[in-house]
Amino acid sequence: TVTVGVLALQGAFVEHVHLLKKAVEPESPSEWEFIEVRTPEELARCDGLVLPGGESTTMSLVAARSNLLEPLRDFVKVLRKPVWGTCAGLILLAESANRTKKGGQELIGGLDVRVNRNHFGRQTESFQAPLDLSFLGEGAAPFPAVFIRAPIVECILPHQEGIQTEEVGREDTVVAPSRQTKDAVAQAATAESVEVLATLSGPAARIATQGRNISPDEEVGDVIAVRQGNVFGTSFHPELTGDARIHAWWLRQVQAAVIKRNKLNRLAQ
Ligand code: GLN
Repeated sequence: TVTVGVLALQGAFVEHVHLLKKAVEPESPSEWEFIEVRTPEELARCDGLVLPGGESTTMSLVAARSNLLEPLRDFVKVLRKPVWGTCAGLILLAESANRTKKGGQELIGGLDVRVNRNHFGRQTESFQAPLDLSFLGEGAAPFPAVFIRAPIVECILPHQEGIQTEEVGREDTVVAPSRQTKDAVAQAATAESVEVLATLSGPAARIATQGRNISPDEEVGDVIAVRQGNVFGTSFHPELTGDARIHAWWLRQVQAAVIKRNKLNRLAQ
């Protein structure tokens, strides 16, 4: 059995469990177990983890109080198991976030990106946009993406193991700040890079920017889905739609990771 957890401290975790179940229904439901995660023990049972949408500051406060922050960081960065963050979950998986409360916000990290929180404005400026997601396959029908006080990925950061970046601009090359150790530089050379999986532009961006000072035909191209190795993040909430295609896509990656890990374990014996 493959066990997939949904972090259940706050936010839309019930909806994720529901869609994960829906995603495996036609195939072999008995091979999967979906659990809500509130403790380090529950996390330890998981082969993959979803971080739901909700409110990222609250989520990280509760995670800290539940002694989950370090286990979560290990899950993502040491064990490197598949993790998917939606909206607030994407914020937690970023190495850096803008517009956090004074004094900052504890992040889990794992994605070498900086996110801009609440990029599209307030709750009342929520919107739905049809997205062409090429990773769902050639000719896939548009995905109904729901954006609620959603973040975007505003820049990709140079890879820095264990360091939370603050003032780093857009970089395509790896720079080594003085704090960076030799090991981290070596890591940076081998680190998987951030792939942009989806952007919001064209008609969808026009819906998103209505009422704001952006001319309708301006090419916006906000980055709204990224992947870096085992870590996947989306600005929007597939759990709030009935559409389980992204869940199904991600579960295939969890399955592949489990098969690979079992193989490595067997070779090591
Ligand atoms: N704006 C929220 C945050 O900063 C995220 C919103 C959401 O998950 N729908 O955490």
